[in-house]
Amino acid sequence: MFKFVGIIFAVAFFCLAGAARPSAGSKFPALGWVNTNIAHNPFGPAPVKLMMPVVPSNAPAEEWQPPVAPRQVPVRPLTTWISLDNWATQHGVGKSHLLSNMPVTTYAVGSSNGVMVLAIGNREATWNGIEIHLGFGPQIIDGQLFVYGLDVQKNLEPLLCGPSLALPPANPVIVIDPGHGGMNSGTHSILDGRFEKEFTLDWALRLAPLLAQEGWQVFLTHTNDVDDSLSNRVTFAETHHAELFISLHFNSLAPDKFPAGIETYCVTPTGMPSTLTRGYGDFWSESFPNNAFDEQNLQLAVRLQGALLHESGMEDRGVCRARFMGVLHGPHCPAVLIEAGFLSNPSDARQIETPAFRQKLAQAVADALRPKPETGNQKPEAGSQKPENNGQKAETFIPESGTNKLSWP
Ligand SMILES: [Zn+2]
Repeated sequence: MFKFVGIIFAVAFFCLAGAARPSAGSKFPALGWVNTNIAHNPFGPAPVKLMMPVVPSNAPAEEWQPPVAPRQVPVRPLTTWISLDNWATQHGVGKSHLLSNMPVTTYAVGSSNGVMVLAIGNREATWNGIEIHLGFGPQIIDGQLFVYGLDVQKNLEPLLCGPSLALPPANPVIVIDPGHGGMNSGTHSILDGRFEKEFTLDWALRLAPLLAQEGWQVFLTHTNDVDDSLSNRVTFAETHHAELFISLHFNSLAPDKFPAGIETYCVTPTGMPSTLTRGYGDFWSESFPNNAFDEQNLQLAVRLQGALLHESGMEDRGVCRARFMGVLHGPHCPAVLIEAGFLSNPSDARQIETPAFRQKLAQAVADALRPKPETGNQKPEAGSQKPENNGQKAETFIPESGTNKLSWP
């Protein structure tokens, strides 16, 4: 459904973008950076806004934080369209190959890291079969495939050219944030009304020992049914010197029962539109502390999304970007938020309510964070080796008043 809507919107995009294009035969102009939002974007009639997913007005805004005034962008992002084949030649990446012309024109571009498939006019792409969401749909200009500079910088380069995600070396610290708690119950199951907070905490408590076995120092923002503010969760990560931050959630688009599947979010890179806004302001020029980790965020999100899909068998809704998720603004380390299925979808909810399924989700996250052996021509990295404990015992954080047993009022 989403893809179908995306294709329809892509057609609309072309109609509108065509009207705003320079005269025939000319390339898109090099675009000066404009500190502005969608209404003044340099593409004319807001093509990307048309491709935003439609969210019902009663959609839960569980992770929403009041918008703050956008700050000035410290550096100019890359805001020109780039010939993909010219870029590929310069970066040792294979040239693009036309895959199909129908129903959408698609191209593949690959390196020893994997293969990315791009669809003309469509923000949905795939990386090694996992859906990722670009900022802008690729274009054909003068018969050549062009990709927007920010997408090249923030989406293509980290995956096609970058070394694999450098996991922290010995005794790495990870903060796991079970979404919601206390009065903040999150969404609820369509089957029996059980709250999201129950399932996220159980998932986190199953995950913690698995990560500890791998040598991680694991800290949970809470281990019992309490409500932490979003800012406290980020402060907690800072206090504990987190090297990775992962927030665990389940999704809902009630009363729509149809959406299903897993999404993994990271904060939107400055200068790009978000994948999802839930109707809140999406200021492209806004810059957050966590934007310093855009590339690592994407690599982490792709690894997690792939492992979760493999382990769960759920539908792939992709690696997405959002600005309204407050916990993703502040961490000074790679940070993602996982939405592991829809409690508003009967099939997803049935699985989420099963302890064995939540154990699978925990195992998937632990698997994704296990350092992988180097392959191809990637250079070995100090941080990519299996963590060593140096004789120290990995620990799991338990608050003084906390308990590992679930206790619900
Ligand atoms: Zn949630």
